[in-house]
Amino acid sequence: MVPPVSRGGLEMRYLTGAQAQRLERLLRGRQRVLRDEIRAGLLSSDEQHHKDLAGMVADVGDESVANLLADLDVKSIDRDVGELRDVEAALERLARGVLGVCADCGGDIGYDRLEANPAATRCIRCQDGYERTHAHEGTPTL
Ligand SMILES: [Zn+2]
Repeated sequence: MVPPVSRGGLEMRYLTGAQAQRLERLLRGRQRVLRDEIRAGLLSSDEQHHKDLAGMVADVGDESVANLLADLDVKSIDRDVGELRDVEAALERLARGVLGVCADCGGDIGYDRLEANPAATRCIRCQDGYERTHAHEGTPTL
């Protein structure tokens, strides 16, 4: 589980405070859109259980919605849940001050790359290597 986040006086390893704030805004905006889409998808389901979950997604506040939906198998929202998981993980890294740190080499992901994709977990070099070794696993449609 993720330890409780303490805010304030946060030092990012590679980002300035202004950059971190801008990325947080981007991530929060994306999180809101995804939650809305997921909620709409759940509400359109015929199953009461899904409609109940839709209410929880609306009420859950800052906690992880992706975890809430982890065991749910609803094809129409699978992709949104997957992306939301990435966005929530990025917000969690931001809170710990390690957003922008490559998961593979520990180097700087780079602000330009993060602004294009705040949920990126690897620097461009490691991402290239990753995609070469995981080629043809399915192409993101976004
Ligand atoms: Zn790297």
